[in-house]
Amino acid sequence: MKVLICGGGVIGTSIAYFLSQRGVEVSVVERTGLANAASGKSGGFLALDWCDGSPLAPLARRSFDLHAELAAKLDSDWGYRRVETLSVVSSIHQDMSRYRRLDSPGWLGADSVVYRQLGTPDSTAQLHPADFTKAMMAAATDHGATLIEGCIDGLTFSPDGQSATGAIVDGTELTADAVVIAMGPWSILACQWLPLPATHGLKGHSLVFKYEPSPESLFVELEWKTGMMTQPEINPRPDGTTYVCGLSGDDPLPVDPAKVLPEPGASDTLREMTARISPELGASEILAEQACYRPATQDGLPLLGPVPGIAGAYIATGHNVWGMLNAPATGEAMAELIAGNGETTVDLRPFDPGRMDALAPDAVRA
Ligand SMILES: Cc1cc2nc3c(=O)[nH]c(=O)nc-3n(C[C@H](O)[C@H](O)[C@H](O)COP(=O)(O)OP(=O)(O)OC[C@H]3O[C@@H](n4cnc5c(N)ncnc54)[C@H](O)[C@@H]3O)c2cc1C
Repeated sequence: MKVLICGGGVIGTSIAYFLSQRGVEVSVVERTGLANAASGKSGGFLALDWCDGSPLAPLARRSFDLHAELAAKLDSDWGYRRVETLSVVSSIHQDMSRYRRLDSPGWLGADSVVYRQLGTPDSTAQLHPADFTKAMMAAATDHGATLIEGCIDGLTFSPDGQSATGAIVDGTELTADAVVIAMGPWSILACQWLPLPATHGLKGHSLVFKYEPSPESLFVELEWKTGMMTQPEINPRPDGTTYVCGLSGDDPLPVDPAKVLPEPGASDTLREMTARISPELGASEILAEQACYRPATQDGLPLLGPVPGIAGAYIATGHNVWGMLNAPATGEAMAELIAGNGETTVDLRPFDPGRMDALAPDAVRA
């Protein structure tokens, strides 16, 4: 069996890894470079039970366990570690020291206090997102998978239009028994070829500082000078860097992933916010100023499974803020669906791509 995966983000490479473990011939087609998008620019924060109470809970819990298993099993180091996770309140308008509830890491400024413990090493963890995404591809490659640099321009179909038979990559047809759309927010392009609901891209900015403080992940409620509350997230990493995100953007998604750029002034604002939370961190050298888009669906749940009415076509996208967390269980379940007996470790029915109104295939391709 030959499977073509469209998109080299964490979802595409995780599916490739689990398919390769089953001896499937798998190729990942990536336009701009592995992990160039959200999968290389996200926080990499993982939580066991933060999706509890939603249909994502079983996927998240299984994934959290798989992250630990993969870190123990594979040789590569992608900075996986269990961490404490703290809720911090910060204000530029008031003396926050009177709200101090818990010990604060020494690198936080006087205007920031730890308010609550959100997670312990039993329930929260971190990884370096680009390193993890690349490690999944490398481990898949060890089992025969290939990475193809190229742009998916469309899919190919059987003469009756009922089955996907491959994809068009830079104008050339590549045949396959199954095709998986895993292009994150760019999966919306597949609505031209398949009867699928839309995936939207939600833009966020981030900075990577050269600074290694104590390892806690911080979720900050910052009362900003505009009078608005913002929620920056801070993830120190064991490679001597600290990642900060929390400023959204308005630019629409460019079709070419290479054209995703920070918006004017965004990095300065994020640095200023960071300096309010921790003057020491905010004053450190910036190694990367970046932006990326989270893939989101209309009902907030991912699209995982077969494309309705088109044999051999699958989609795995729409993971929104939890794509790094939920990638391994997504990869496992999609591999079971495509190359197993149809039973999946995690029940994928809540994520059925057919659950939302979709156009008829003939209408889409007419
Ligand atoms: C600021 C920010 C912080 C985040 N923090 C966290 C976090 O802490 N924890 C967590 O779990 N999640 C987090 N996320 C969410 C997570 O990053 C995403 O859900 C996840 O990366 C999505 O992965 P993906 O593989 O679906 O998409 P992407 O990473 O977007 O990958 C899609 C790939 O498809 C490729 N592509 C596009 N068009 C084509 C084409 N025509 N042909 C071939 N290839 C193409 C792109 O180049 C890209 O590499 C965060 C997201 C953002 C934006």
